[in-house]
Amino acid sequence: VDMRTPEALADAERWTAHNYHPLPVVIAEAEGAWVTDVDGRRYLDFLAGYSALNFGHRHPGLIAAAHAQLDRVTLTSRAFVHDQFAEFCHSLAALCGKDLVLPMNTGAEAVETAIKVARKWGYRVKGVEAERAEIVVAADNFHGRTTTIVSFSTDPDARDDFGPYTPGFVIVPYGDLAALADAITPNTVAVLMEPIQGEAGVLVPPAGYFAGVRALCDDHNVLFVADEIQSGLGRTGQTFAIAHENVIPDMYVLGKALGGGIVPVSAVAANRDVLGVLKPGEHGSTFGGNPLACAVGVEVVRLLETGEFQRRSAELGERLHAGLRALIGKGVVAVRGRGLWAGIDIDPALMTGREACERLAERGVLAKDTHGSTIRLAPPLVVTADELDHAVAQLAAILT
Ligand code: PLP
Repeated sequence: VDMRTPEALADAERWTAHNYHPLPVVIAEAEGAWVTDVDGRRYLDFLAGYSALNFGHRHPGLIAAAHAQLDRVTLTSRAFVHDQFAEFCHSLAALCGKDLVLPMNTGAEAVETAIKVARKWGYRVKGVEAERAEIVVAADNFHGRTTTIVSFSTDPDARDDFGPYTPGFVIVPYGDLAALADAITPNTVAVLMEPIQGEAGVLVPPAGYFAGVRALCDDHNVLFVADEIQSGLGRTGQTFAIAHENVIPDMYVLGKALGGGIVPVSAVAANRDVLGVLKPGEHGSTFGGNPLACAVGVEVVRLLETGEFQRRSAELGERLHAGLRALIGKGVVAVRGRGLWAGIDIDPALMTGREACERLAERGVLAKDTHGSTIRLAPPLVVTADELDHAVAQLAAILT
């Protein structure tokens, strides 16, 4: 057999910075929940681009929208208006129940946008003294890789040696309402948190936590900003993970699946009293809200409006979590998550999370470890019940 994988892996190592440690799989094609490597081996993709592929690889409706737009216009910059822009912003604003949307490209850019908007809102609307705005964030957060965002990371890998750091952030333990209450001062402009902490290991906060966060924000005139970049757009069985807590944030931060796995699309959504603080020239992006991104984004919103993906995630998520819970005591220490999203702590005496993912890959299931002995599963929401059962069976097999 002509094995192309070893050579392709060595080539990839040779020509890039080693800022990732990928599994030894070289993907050449993909469709739905499946990918095929350069040697023709097929795998179930249970990472789904860190939830950027919620609708599966190459969803036909999304691909058709992209193809059609490629034949019309792909980039204008925001110096001009194009005919896909209003529809995307309008439909996404409606999905979020907000007045306005500001499109960007990557998740980190959308988080930066939320930070800038919250600060400006703090100075212009709340009346915080110049240069004094504070934003409260959670320990073990993951919001992206820019210098400002890593300034408030608690992960040494993400943060060390990237200083000097941006001031103005206060870190509290995730899930601890008393600590948040203590951290809020008259200078606090926002609380920025993930409704479920993804990179930390799919950590679900205690019931009632976010209702408490919302109440504290209301009491102190503070914006609650929900980073739904990984948790949102159907992943947990609802359009937004924060809806499980019956909470409405002042600002949604979206990314990943918003681009359908085709183009980078991110956005913030908020009401006019918040996003309206931005005036011409104060923020922007060359590619943010480009025609191709908006055409795909419109179709993504349409898919979410059907409710089908949220429903699949909720129903199949029950099945996934039941299957995983049955492995507790059989090599699995704990399982967390919601919908088609699970963080699984493997018994560290058995193997590391990395080893578990390597063994799963050998058995045709792609997943990703995080923090030592945790692996995370996040299949595309088009995955079938049989495919789920198959993946859980492979996990059971590597643990015995
Ligand atoms: N916020 C959250 C919750 C994320 O999970 C991620 C990516 O994993 C980001 C922000 C950063 O997104 P991007 O990698 O597109 O900059």
